Amino acid sequence: KADIAMYCVKGEGRNNVQFYSPQMDANADKRLLLETSLRKALDNREFRVYYQPKVDIVSKRITAMEALIRWDHPILGLVSPGEFIPLAEETGLIIPIGEWVLRAACFQNCEWVRQGIPPMRVAVNLSGYQFQQKNLLETIRGILDETGLTADLLELEITESVIMQNPDFAVSVLNQLRDLGVHISIDDFGIGYSSLAHLKRFSVNTLKIDKSFVRDVEINSADAAIATAIIAMGNSLNLKVIAEGVETEGQLSFLSDNKCDEVQGYLFSTPMPPEKVAEFMREHGRSAGRG
Ligand code: C2E
Ligand code: MG
Ligand code: MG
Ligand code: MG
Repeated sequence: KADIAMYCVKGEGRNNVQFYSPQMDANADKRLLLETSLRKALDNREFRVYYQPKVDIVSKRITAMEALIRWDHPILGLVSPGEFIPLAEETGLIIPIGEWVLRAACFQNCEWVRQGIPPMRVAVNLSGYQFQQKNLLETIRGILDETGLTADLLELEITESVIMQNPDFAVSVLNQLRDLGVHISIDDFGIGYSSLAHLKRFSVNTLKIDKSFVRDVEINSADAAIATAIIAMGNSLNLKVIAEGVETEGQLSFLSDNKCDEVQGYLFSTPMPPEKVAEFMREHGRSAGRG
């Protein structure tokens, strides 16, 4: 308890003791536990990568598998990325962790190719901190070299808000990534502030509609308008558009009627461990072929 108290005092300023509450103690407690164990998690091999397919809405082919990190904490069990990625960013640990995911995903995609699975991209989420690293290009080139994966089978997902933090800087990094030959998607699109004027400067391949617009797309006319506007914007700029968080047949029909290119979500598969992917691809191939 003494350690936790010190931590709070440091965090909140020495005169702010009156703000303590048991809930805050519990939060700080958990945070401290997470932070301490996050530092050891890579060495202890506690991270896993799960994969979730992206599906072409017309052909039903799998275009990519998105890598989503999982942390299997020895005491807390599975900790969601929403909880530990922000902490990893605050502590700088996101750099080695992000590099680990990138390497693991590239190795895994080579392995799938070796198993005879039809080639598909592996999509890796990049944190804003990674995006700003001076040696990002070298790191990616190094990992492609090391794993033997060709650049066109790697996709990077960068959120709209990260790109819009500094659009001029983003233009230059995105150009370098394009020259490397990797596929680039703007993740969580629609909640940031890109205008058409910005978008035409970004050398990206795909816009990924944020799942907050997909959820109620059938019943909320504003969400429907935003989703169709993003699709129209993508079409006119020659970009692919994918919708994330697709859970129902109704959402799928809406997106299909409105000419969205690809979909991803629980309707097709939850994120799965790599050893499940071969089986999924076989099953999916059978059912997609039928339709
Ligand atoms: P994201 O990249 O936008 O990923 C989409 C999130 O939605 C994932 O949550 C995914 O599991 C979840 N999802 C997929 N389909 C559905 C659906 O049909 N319905 C709903 N409600 N949710 C769905 P997850 O895996 O918890 O990841 C959350 C976020 O954490 C990701 O959002 C991404 O921003 C971040 N993240 C995950 N892995 C990494 C990583 O390796 N590096 C970095 N920097 N960030 C990561
Ligand atoms: Mg993503
Ligand atoms: Mg997303
Ligand atoms: Mg999202």
